[in-house]
Amino acid sequence: MDNDRIINKDGLTFATSPLLGDTSHAFLGRTGGVSRAPFTSLNTGMHVGDNPGDVAKNRRRIRECFGVEDRNLIIVTQVHGTEVINIEKELPPETAEADAIITARSDIAVAVQTADCVPILFFDPDKNIICAAHAGWRGTLGNIAGKTVTAMKKNYGSDPAKIRAAIGPSIGPCCYEVSTELIGRFHDTLNHAGQASKERHLDLPGINKVQLEEAGLACSNIDQTSICTACRSDLFFSHRYEADETRGINTGRQLSFIMKPELLRKKR
Ligand SMILES: [Zn+2]
Repeated sequence: MDNDRIINKDGLTFATSPLLGDTSHAFLGRTGGVSRAPFTSLNTGMHVGDNPGDVAKNRRRIRECFGVEDRNLIIVTQVHGTEVINIEKELPPETAEADAIITARSDIAVAVQTADCVPILFFDPDKNIICAAHAGWRGTLGNIAGKTVTAMKKNYGSDPAKIRAAIGPSIGPCCYEVSTELIGRFHDTLNHAGQASKERHLDLPGINKVQLEEAGLACSNIDQTSICTACRSDLFFSHRYEADETRGINTGRQLSFIMKPELLRKKR
């Protein structure tokens, strides 16, 4: 998944992964929405200080572009934890707190919101399960990627060797300098996964890839983008590049979602 794999459709830009080719999915960028600065323009985050009406319009634009019905785009409240929600019958409210959503349902799209954090979309073609996960540094330290795979095994009997995962645009080690204390915590907690970090630059997408391999995914079943959200803040929201908490400046959140293929939805 590289810069040249960015797609434009109906004014929206997004990246996709060939590993998830059987599904409807997208790692959306920031263009094609109605929000104003500093949320320009396809902000999907309700909690960042943007006008809620604009956020609702942006979400509608996404649903229309990909043919997702009104209530069926599932977004929950991400808390930088390792809680995984499994959706069977009831749809969770947006206030439900979790950082990964799994479902076997064919009528819903599960989504995560990011601005530098790592979005991971999963598809188990064997058990027909889809999942979206969000991994910031806290979630990565808690191995949200591995815990998501464990939840797929536990709830649906997924064989990790058959699960496919795509790691979307997120902040790369080029732009993610952190404290030596935080690097130390990664080295202490993650053993060799921590080696994915060099000096003071943390490689969040790289560590998540190692965690997915440790959880049993085949290397060939993991797709990792080379797009850094901070390097490409023209196309993606980047909290590190744009937000300034001391001055009360936030940025928007882009959406990544996955839904089962059209054919399976029609069968339902
Ligand atoms: Zn970068």
